[in-house]
Amino acid sequence: MPEQHGATTRTEPAAGFNLLAWRPVRGLILWWGFPYIFQLALLAVFLALAVLGWGHYAPAGVPAKLFAKSNLVTLLVWGLWWPLMVWGAVWLGRAWCMVCPLELVSNVAERLARRLGLRQRVLGPWLAGGAAIVALFAALQLFVAAAQLHRTPAYTSWMLLGLLLLAVVSSLLWKDRAFCRGFCPAGLLLATYGRSGMLAVRAGPASACAACAGKECLAGERRFRPDARSCPSLLNPPKLNSNRDCLVCGQCLKACAPDNMRLLLRPPFARADAREPLASWPVTLFVMLASGFVMLELCTEWKQAEAVFLAVPTWLSAQTGATGFWAGVVKWVWTLLLVPAGVWLGLAGLLRLCGERHALADQLRRLALPLAVVVAAGHMSKGLAKFVAWLPFLPGAWREPDGVATAQALTAKQLAMPAALLTPATVSVLCLLLMTLFIACAVREHRLAHPDEPFRLRAALPVLVLGLLCAGIIAGWASG
Ligand code: SF4
Ligand code: SF4
Ligand code: SF4
Repeated sequence: MPEQHGATTRTEPAAGFNLLAWRPVRGLILWWGFPYIFQLALLAVFLALAVLGWGHYAPAGVPAKLFAKSNLVTLLVWGLWWPLMVWGAVWLGRAWCMVCPLELVSNVAERLARRLGLRQRVLGPWLAGGAAIVALFAALQLFVAAAQLHRTPAYTSWMLLGLLLLAVVSSLLWKDRAFCRGFCPAGLLLATYGRSGMLAVRAGPASACAACAGKECLAGERRFRPDARSCPSLLNPPKLNSNRDCLVCGQCLKACAPDNMRLLLRPPFARADAREPLASWPVTLFVMLASGFVMLELCTEWKQAEAVFLAVPTWLSAQTGATGFWAGVVKWVWTLLLVPAGVWLGLAGLLRLCGERHALADQLRRLALPLAVVVAAGHMSKGLAKFVAWLPFLPGAWREPDGVATAQALTAKQLAMPAALLTPATVSVLCLLLMTLFIACAVREHRLAHPDEPFRLRAALPVLVLGLLCAGIIAGWASG
């Protein structure tokens, strides 16, 4: 049997409402066609978007951001799906993974490799830990900063096809859901933000698993069945105690002959879930990168804040003569490397001054999971601001998917600009409430990750500082 991971001690069944007790949900989840039928439908949408976006760039004289809202591909991918995925991850865990078309592609490619007799490798610890995912996430952000990937349908189309290719190649070369575990650029985001999610696959009483003779959820010979497989991600379903790695694919729910696996709906940030006192390095690096990216994203909703945030890279580009792509590279280095390094070293230094005595590396890893909650709240805030501003463009983009005539008419003021669903002031207030709630949750996360340490107020300082920094920017949105 291949090595199992994601297993830690679990003695009591996790609390929550078992959705499988509800007949329609049970019928759907345990049906042989689930989740394949949804994955197939979404794969068709995925391919259609890749084809629709192919070769489309912003026409001359039209701002790239306005064109991105008018074009169906960029509107759907970046304006609607991405914010929904961030919100979905935080509230529902890896629910997107349940129906993700790329998992289907990697599943088929992995089976093809077996059929062809290719010698597939096992993911090494660094790849399985997410090292390549951090690099791919950073690379995508580089294309966002330097090439306006998120505003250009043609580049978005390349990205979709590139992901498809990566899913096929990685699954031909490595086994056991290698693309999801080691290469999907959204993998660490989903695994980190999704920890708090209300949807969770967990086993029932441990005594039922102890008495289970077949152990179908673990049996290696069931891994390559078409359906009711042992966990394709090599998790140990009876001992699952975190949403981190579970794709909610439902295979163990179907495989479990004693019917002891549950699909739980429970409050967010469930107390019973496991928290590592020290996050892994890939997770720590991901949260650091994301903190810089999210700070910039929050600033882009407030012109003055954006000017302040980008003052240094703008000055550097002016001094060095960097324009276009290279100016974007300078912005990327500032946003994803220098700002996070400065902020995190500052927070670790603050704790040191207050008397915390941890090695710097350990301190950064201790900060990662609580700060991830604040970063997720910032990401959701930007997502909400974007979603309410972009959604009104959908009818126009549906009528004219390439968006050229719409964007030109909007630029020439022959068409009225679609109004956002909520005013900036309303979005600002909602997001401040969200940030306040998540600051409290982040402090609680720190306490739950270190149950043996007496709680000291100073341990909450990094969460408060980053949370208040984000809140200050959000408060400024009302002023534009
Ligand atoms: S990890 Fe990535 S590829 Fe895998 S199911 Fe989730 S989103 Fe899809
Ligand atoms: S198949 Fe079901 S009862 Fe058996 S070990 Fe797995 S989860 Fe437990
Ligand atoms: S088989 Fe079960 S434990 Fe494994 S990823 Fe799917 S739902 Fe999660």
